[in-house]
Amino acid sequence: MSEHGRTHRLELTDSTLRDWTATVLAVDTDEGIVLDRSAFYPGGGGQPPDHGVLLWSGVQTRIVDVRRGDDLWLIPAEGDPLPSVGTQVQGAIEDDRRTALMRTHSGLHVLSGVVFRDFGALVTGSNMEPLTGRLDFNLETVPDGFKESVEDALNSEIVADRAISAYELPREEALAIPDVIRTAANLLPPTIEIVRIVDIAGLDVQADGGTHVASTRQVGRMRVAKVENKGKGFRRIRVTVED
Ligand SMILES: [Zn+2]
Repeated sequence: MSEHGRTHRLELTDSTLRDWTATVLAVDTDEGIVLDRSAFYPGGGGQPPDHGVLLWSGVQTRIVDVRRGDDLWLIPAEGDPLPSVGTQVQGAIEDDRRTALMRTHSGLHVLSGVVFRDFGALVTGSNMEPLTGRLDFNLETVPDGFKESVEDALNSEIVADRAISAYELPREEALAIPDVIRTAANLLPPTIEIVRIVDIAGLDVQADGGTHVASTRQVGRMRVAKVENKGKGFRRIRVTVED
């Protein structure tokens, strides 16, 4: 699970890692750059890819995107110099963006947890940018005071400082967890044998490949910006994350 093609994915076991050394395994002017070790989150589960740089021989290659093919291809900024195969590089993730995305992603899991617990609604879609995001819910009716009630619940869970951990489980064990069944049973391709779990202690457990903060307090304060009615039984909740 922590290998993608020839690349060892460092961010899956340490979401706090921001710089590391690596060796260039492949370079292609169209495809990008493949490293033996990378902490660039490649995107997925609603969380966009990281930005950052590779430093080598006194120059830098800015990384602006990641593409998941047979290998994990780091996409350089147009016109930046490219290292050749075998070059030792220093990789660095843009900390502001990644940390904001971790807080936002964890915040959306808190939202998923409280809306299921308090209103029984299931998530049907998600998207996020640094410090803002939305989840779509299968929710027939919205009671009076819904927006305020969700916002209060979010911030009590944040103040409760619940631990957030990520670990891997064999497929059958993961699918024996009721929370995982409700959020992922239909989304897990049958070929996946090991499932990465993101667990907010006592609140929410999901199959998830994203990067997260270590506890809910690290999310910061959350605000429910908008509750939109997108059609029968379809509600979209937009949130922002603040300091
Ligand atoms: Zn997630």
